[in-house]
Amino acid sequence: MKNSPMIPFNKPFIAGKELYYIAQAVTMGNIAADGYFTKACSRLLEERFGIRKVLLVPSGTAALELAAMLCNLQPGDEVIMPSYTFVSTASAFVRVGARPVFVDIRPDTLNIDETKIEAAITERTRVIVPVHYGGVSCEMDRIMDIARRYNLLVVEDAAQGVNAFYKGRALGSIGHLGCYSFHETKNYICGEGGALCINDERFIERAEILRDKGTNRQKFFRGEVDKYTWVDIGSSYVMAEILAAFLYGQLEQMDAIAARRFEIYQHYAMHLKPLEEQGFLRLPRIPAGCQSNHHLFYVLTPDGPTRDALLAHLKSEGIHAVFHYVPLHTSPMGRTFGYKEGDLPVTESLAARLVRLPMYYELTQHDQERVVVTLEKLFSEILI
Ligand SMILES: *Cc1c(COP(=O)(O)O)cnc(C)c1O
Repeated sequence: MKNSPMIPFNKPFIAGKELYYIAQAVTMGNIAADGYFTKACSRLLEERFGIRKVLLVPSGTAALELAAMLCNLQPGDEVIMPSYTFVSTASAFVRVGARPVFVDIRPDTLNIDETKIEAAITERTRVIVPVHYGGVSCEMDRIMDIARRYNLLVVEDAAQGVNAFYKGRALGSIGHLGCYSFHETKNYICGEGGALCINDERFIERAEILRDKGTNRQKFFRGEVDKYTWVDIGSSYVMAEILAAFLYGQLEQMDAIAARRFEIYQHYAMHLKPLEEQGFLRLPRIPAGCQSNHHLFYVLTPDGPTRDALLAHLKSEGIHAVFHYVPLHTSPMGRTFGYKEGDLPVTESLAARLVRLPMYYELTQHDQERVVVTLEKLFSEILI
């Protein structure tokens, strides 16, 4: 085994016509923003997922930043979110002066615990940001109900949730706003990229302006004004056509990509089940009503030291597995908001025990079996 090639954690791949479409974009003479492929991607996502308006942006982070700007927050306004998430979930809102209020997660899905949200609401609360971890939905009925009762906005961080569903509705299509990522580690990719999903009409016009340098250029293109000019604060949150062309090649192959990821997920789930039954590992849970996109596959060890030993052992066997996240409330930045270790016990415990296994379209069955066998051996021969 020592001499087998390294199994990477992730590997981006070409699903179909990505490079051909890039050549076509160049030939058509438009490689900046909002050309043929940008429109094609937006339309595909809008129609397939029932989203009122989709704007392609440079990253999932940019989508979150635009969403945060659209929420029109005042300094000191509070935004409820999990601490177990990627940095951008929080930083996007902190950039506009808001204060992140971290709520603990559910031990089954690692998503924000919807039963703990109400207790975190204050006079200053304006937004709830559910993060759909691994493409498994948060409990959106409950979250939307709380938002309605307290008059809050909901911004879905669906960076990992493209082509996943909650009770038949696409993630990103449920909240007032939703954010997708097409980063190379996600399911559908273009290197770096993202989309802002707008489900509440009220936000469309301003979103177009903020995305286009604070100008009303989109209105001008549609012939609604006779010149375009500076009307608001904004920045350049557009995606280059070249990347949109690449992305279109991926989105066209969405079903094939989804099917392969499901296969890989099922293979891990089936072959690691005995280790779960013996109490060595806990496997992911997908609640009824949630249709996952199988973005990732993780295992939870009984404790932190076992996790660290497991990661080191996989590495020594040439398998690149990773852990995440450092809970945001224990990060240097998170602490500046008054948080400390011990504040969110479920988050801290799970973050210390989680390992993500290699998961990508071209992961061969042979390599996947190597991962499974390495884990089996670890628990039957080494860690006992
Ligand atoms: C990937 C990710 C982001 C950021 O997306 P980028 O495209 O890398 O900027 C934000 N939130 C979550 C939960 C993510 O997984």
